[in-house]
Amino acid sequence: IERIGVMTSGGDSPGMNAAIRSVVRTCAYHKLECVGIYRGYQGLIEGDFKTLDARSVNNIINKGGTILKSARSKEFRTREGRDIAFKMAKEKGLDALVVIGGDGSFTGAMIFSQENDFPVMGIPGTIDNDIYGTSSTLGYDTALNTVVEAIDKIRDTASSHNRLFFVEVMGRDVGHIALNAGVGAGAEEILIPEEDLGKERLIESLKRSRASGKSSSIVVVAEGDKTGENVFDLKYYVEENLPEYEVRVSVLGHMQRGGSPSCWDRVLASRMGVKAVESLLDGKTNYMVGIKDSMMALTPIDQAVKGKTDIDLELLRVSDIMTT
Ligand code: ATP
Repeated sequence: IERIGVMTSGGDSPGMNAAIRSVVRTCAYHKLECVGIYRGYQGLIEGDFKTLDARSVNNIINKGGTILKSARSKEFRTREGRDIAFKMAKEKGLDALVVIGGDGSFTGAMIFSQENDFPVMGIPGTIDNDIYGTSSTLGYDTALNTVVEAIDKIRDTASSHNRLFFVEVMGRDVGHIALNAGVGAGAEEILIPEEDLGKERLIESLKRSRASGKSSSIVVVAEGDKTGENVFDLKYYVEENLPEYEVRVSVLGHMQRGGSPSCWDRVLASRMGVKAVESLLDGKTNYMVGIKDSMMALTPIDQAVKGKTDIDLELLRVSDIMTT
């Protein structure tokens, strides 16, 4: 292997730049050429490449987003599109590809690799922490800190006005952000897709909370939760059943995907970049780099794509006890 391509694909997350920097510098360390591919698979198809040396990634470790830009490519989902991508990769002399992205991007990488016998390595970049094979994805820790900071601010206004706030957080089909940030921010109740509380029990819980002397409440709702049809449906339900409550909704939205990465995410990105390049040099292909029990670990990319992540049952219990 002499020349490695690196791209960011799908939704962006904080820490992607730190991962790009790590891949580029690890290539430089091992005297390999590193080629940055802009706009994910679409850039691969269009040949939107730029050679990156160790100095071209100065001062990006602290930046959110991705300097390589990200995109979704319909064309890459077709065989014709992927054939053009392969031609481009060969024309540029690429010998392997590091893809920083989520499960969709990994599925694309896997198919591309199988069709063309082309070495690929995945780095999980998503705030949702919904990828099997790593206890933490890149950007997850930063998103947790962003959410906790936002809820702290909402708490100030909730307690000044004796209000109940539903705060919707991201996380796609899983409740990792909601559960962890909910515990970290001291939420009254946490609604996640992995656990069905039910609307009636929510009302009971809120009643108990008021009866115990609490005058304001924060309920964290994962975007994938099905307790209500959506977070506004929950608001109307509570207003109907507990008319004495003043209820507000705050949907945190895309702010959760931005911002300067936390120290954890920067360190994780640096470690993952080294592991990705060195694994390719070791002849490994079709793996995703992850962290398990504080150690770097490789998971076959098909398992990473298909596998499910489990919610932390111990933390779920902690959250129950904390709302006493
Ligand atoms: P996010 O976590 O934001 O969803 P992701 O990597 O899962 O990130 P997707 O939009 O699902 O984001 O996938 C990114 C790109 O990967 C797609 O635009 C497409 O080009 C490619 N891709 C996804 N699924 C496939 C597939 N089945 N075959 C080929 N390419 C795919």
